[in-house]
Amino acid sequence: MDRKEFFKTSLFGAAALAAAGTGLTACAPSDKKKRSQVKLNLSFQEKIAPGETLAERLDFMENLGIVGFEPSGKNLVSRVDEIKSALSGRNIKVSAICAGFQGFILAEDEQKELFDTTMREIVAAAGELGSVGVIMVPAFSRQAPCKPHTQETRDYLCEQLHDLGEYALQCGTTVILEPLNRKEAFYMRLVADAAAIARDSRSEGVKCMGDFWHMQEETSDYGALMSAGTKYLQHVHMASRGRRLMPGEDGELDVYTDGFRALKEMGYDKYVSFECGTKGERAETVTAAVNLLREQWELA
Ligand code: MG
Repeated sequence: MDRKEFFKTSLFGAAALAAAGTGLTACAPSDKKKRSQVKLNLSFQEKIAPGETLAERLDFMENLGIVGFEPSGKNLVSRVDEIKSALSGRNIKVSAICAGFQGFILAEDEQKELFDTTMREIVAAAGELGSVGVIMVPAFSRQAPCKPHTQETRDYLCEQLHDLGEYALQCGTTVILEPLNRKEAFYMRLVADAAAIARDSRSEGVKCMGDFWHMQEETSDYGALMSAGTKYLQHVHMASRGRRLMPGEDGELDVYTDGFRALKEMGYDKYVSFECGTKGERAETVTAAVNLLREQWELA
């Protein structure tokens, strides 16, 4: 082989290798590109941002690029106009509505009726505000008298949720089941539990969520969120993982990349909303937390 022929062969080889390389790695870059297009839509509950008034808090949020606002369901009916006008002209939308109803769905006494009435009022207001859904827990451990934890009760819960979910759909929103940890609510502890109850309720209006604080009982953040997938996962709550403060305040414990990778892979397009306190200067800890989450989102 002379020098000229050697180059020809080598070039052909290199071209063939390059072509093969493109074929072999075609999936990875496009998946990566798809993942990088998934946005981190951050949301705050009402008392997260510093400020005396709602307008001041929303100004702070807007400056940080926060796009969601999660008010409590308490007194929501009388606040619909106030919230609508406070958000008008801003790049912030109502994300989820956090509970706020009275009574509970698994109550064995008149608290069930109280739940039915107040929850439906909040769901209607949530629909008017364009919310992704109203967060609820079937029963906290401290709530009594509560139906026993049996198959019959689970069937009853799914039937009741079916009706509530269908009502929420008529209002243009959903109800979102929030699993907690065992100290707070024995009834539903894992994201997969909540997703399975949502599925068995047989209503598109019944969804679930994950809360990085309560998810301490999960064996895998990735597995937990993936078990719900976009079919059921409608909201996510965020906090530090040791003391439920701003992400970053618990130092090395505050790693969210495993869960974020699941959200990016599934193409999650709803909100990640802050539900936590702080031990520091609020303006500083909130800003640092937002920066930390954005960095980890990029890495995930
Ligand atoms: Mg929560």
